[in-house]
Amino acid sequence: MSETTPKLRPELDGIPTYKPGRPAAAGGPVAYKLSSNENPYPPLPGVMESALSAAQSFNRYPDMACTGLMEELADRFGVPLTHLATGTGSVGVAQSLLQSTSGPGDEVIFAWRSFEAYPIITQISGATAVRVPLTEGEVHDLDAMADAITDRTRLIFVCNPNNPTGTVVRRAALERFLDRVPSDVLVVLDEAYREFIRDPEVPDGIEIYRHRPNVAVLRTFSKAYGLAGLRVGFAVAHEPVADALRKTAVPFGVSQLAQDAAVASLRAEDELLGRVGSLVAERVRVRDGLVEQGWTVPETQANFVWLRLGDRTVDFAAACEKAGVVIRPFAGEGVRVTIGEHEANDVFLKTAEGFRKEA
Ligand SMILES: *Cc1c(COP(=O)(O)O)cnc(C)c1O
Repeated sequence: MSETTPKLRPELDGIPTYKPGRPAAAGGPVAYKLSSNENPYPPLPGVMESALSAAQSFNRYPDMACTGLMEELADRFGVPLTHLATGTGSVGVAQSLLQSTSGPGDEVIFAWRSFEAYPIITQISGATAVRVPLTEGEVHDLDAMADAITDRTRLIFVCNPNNPTGTVVRRAALERFLDRVPSDVLVVLDEAYREFIRDPEVPDGIEIYRHRPNVAVLRTFSKAYGLAGLRVGFAVAHEPVADALRKTAVPFGVSQLAQDAAVASLRAEDELLGRVGSLVAERVRVRDGLVEQGWTVPETQANFVWLRLGDRTVDFAAACEKAGVVIRPFAGEGVRVTIGEHEANDVFLKTAEGFRKEA
């Protein structure tokens, strides 16, 4: 017997494993999970009913074409069916976007720090990640991103609002950037937190895509719609791109539970967006509270806040955990704290205040 192992693609060497937000500690004090930007509200009864009803037939494969969901989305967003593609969360769709556009020798540009999945899925594709630092104000540096384009660039992510900083790019800046991007380079507007935006100057990516064939928009049911555990997201893109996404998607990736729950969520949108409104009010309360305590907190349009703590990051996360709140530290950089239920936000604010006084 030889001592060799199966040959694995060298591109996989050194890929960081995706670090999910830690679960709330079992058996600890009251534990709140503010580490994964999930929706703290439980599923709506009607949505739950749809999922449970779909569960009656999980001996069968789901509808591979997601017909019902696609029709609902086409209707809701006023886009042709041929411009839609669904996937196992918008991360699943993002991975298909890379598979469709990029391989060894190609370059993928994104801001940094931004969504943790970007470097991972880029490296899996074999393409080279080009990370463009955020500005001092923790915002995408769109000029520098445009400057980073070469003839090897295949795809550019713009995360709006940006995870983990919550910052946004506004209409004029985004249009100016898009004018500089060659028409054969795909720009992906990742709008996972779209529903939490209240700044009227932030454009709706679906309006931008309509007059720009090289723009694709990613949306998800995981955040505002509260279906993180069911894994369903979608892209809106012009036909060649949407076609490629349907080709590269994992067959039967979106379960029937997820499809039916997503349709039910779109139909219950008023109620769900009402909950988003409450979370936005909590976001304002949390950020104002932090600013009052003396913290510097970037203006956030998402369901989380960002504190750049540098080398105090890990200590701060430990203090929160001791108080019963699990947050998301990025060691040496800062922490991202999801807006949760009112009591959770109170515990967090109190802990942040205590930490400041001690420091
Ligand atoms: C949470 C998030 C997603 C969505 O992930 P799903 O796979 O749809 O659950 C996509 N992009 C960003 C920036 C996110 O923060």
